[in-house]
Amino acid sequence: MNIATSQHLFEKAQHFIPGGVNSPVRAFRAVGGSPVFIKSAKGPYVYDEDDNEYIELINSWGPMILGHANELIQKAVYDAIQHSFSFGAPTRREVEMAELIVSMVPSIEKVRMVNSGTEATMSAIRVARGFTGRDKIIKFEGCYHGHGDSFLIAAGSGAVTFGTPDSPGVTKGVANDTLTAPFNDLEAVQTLVNANKNDIAALILEPVVGNMGCVLPAEGFLQGLRKICDEEGIVLILDEVMTGFRLAKGGAQERFGISPDLTTLGKIIGGGMPVGAYGGRADIMNKVSPAGPVYQAGTLSGNPIAMSAGLTMLNYLNDHPEVYTQLEASGEKLVNGFKASMQKLGLNYTLNQIGSMYTLFFTDQPVTDFPSAKSSDLPLFGRYFHAMLDRGIYMGPSQFESMFLSTALEDKHLDKIIKANEESLKEILSL
Ligand SMILES: *Cc1c(COP(=O)(O)O)cnc(C)c1O
Repeated sequence: MNIATSQHLFEKAQHFIPGGVNSPVRAFRAVGGSPVFIKSAKGPYVYDEDDNEYIELINSWGPMILGHANELIQKAVYDAIQHSFSFGAPTRREVEMAELIVSMVPSIEKVRMVNSGTEATMSAIRVARGFTGRDKIIKFEGCYHGHGDSFLIAAGSGAVTFGTPDSPGVTKGVANDTLTAPFNDLEAVQTLVNANKNDIAALILEPVVGNMGCVLPAEGFLQGLRKICDEEGIVLILDEVMTGFRLAKGGAQERFGISPDLTTLGKIIGGGMPVGAYGGRADIMNKVSPAGPVYQAGTLSGNPIAMSAGLTMLNYLNDHPEVYTQLEASGEKLVNGFKASMQKLGLNYTLNQIGSMYTLFFTDQPVTDFPSAKSSDLPLFGRYFHAMLDRGIYMGPSQFESMFLSTALEDKHLDKIIKANEESLKEILSL
């Protein structure tokens, strides 16, 4: 495959942009090689600067759930730009957007728009702290909540010790307020809570994790967290930046029947534009400025172009439940195809999937938390990634990512992915 133009651009990029990219995973460091630079995309396909065609499994990490350059969303954006790009004043579409989100996600009574998932999670924990008057938060190892300081914290050595900064530039003071538990481990959460009585403002998690690869909550885990939070007056925050509007119209919380106090949203909510949101119980959200004392603001929040794209996306999803039926069927078809190939080849790798999210882990162990995800053979994944790329399949360039299916994938595309997967496994394992 010729990627000469991409290679040239990447060389140049490294002179002017740290690491050559505006978000680290794009640099392909986890899989080696040079990243492909994308020029355009339509439906299930992306095209790179050398005009190679790939079938999409990243879909902008989720937002392109209807495939690329969807005509309805394009039209909404074209229409909106006729009326200027931004006002910094309230607009009709923000009201429509808020009303629609509240109707689609029942646990949300009030919602505030922001510009990214990172802003949503940062703001949600600030409100939770303002509401409870407590400082500490609990998060889970392997979950990602954007790049806010409070989330870039590694677990301490003992279960009840303070965390330590996971990035230079994050202060020890901030790290002291973030406690980390293993995913799917209710007992560890209870231990943390007992050791920090009346100090914990919020517990935040991805209800289905996408950011250590796709990892599902164990039976009863989410309900157990809900119970602990109720007993201890802790604000339960579900970070549905990835799962919101993807695993169901009302997100993972609808699918698993759990009602959080706050929810953070992003990715799909902007239809590909930079949008995030946080919302939940009215009594908590009424603490947000100017209704309440917790400050949070944004010059471009609720931007009219972004709202037009997002509103059109959400309205479509709200009106077309068959989207989710199709995504479920596509996910199932893909997984069954992968499983059949692995059986044929005598392989026993772990395949985690729910709806339109999946990860093939290069380990025989069940993957239920971060240590088990890390038991994967990472160099082997790197070879698999490139074998797939060579066959025209564009995957997330890390073992610790979920793939995201779109409704633009038809049976013929899914068949091609299944075939490429089998060929790639044979190639990298010399079978
Ligand atoms: C992507 C993501 C974020 C961060 O969103 P950005 O828009 O990249 O800032 C937060 N939480 C989860 C679960 C995510 O997947």
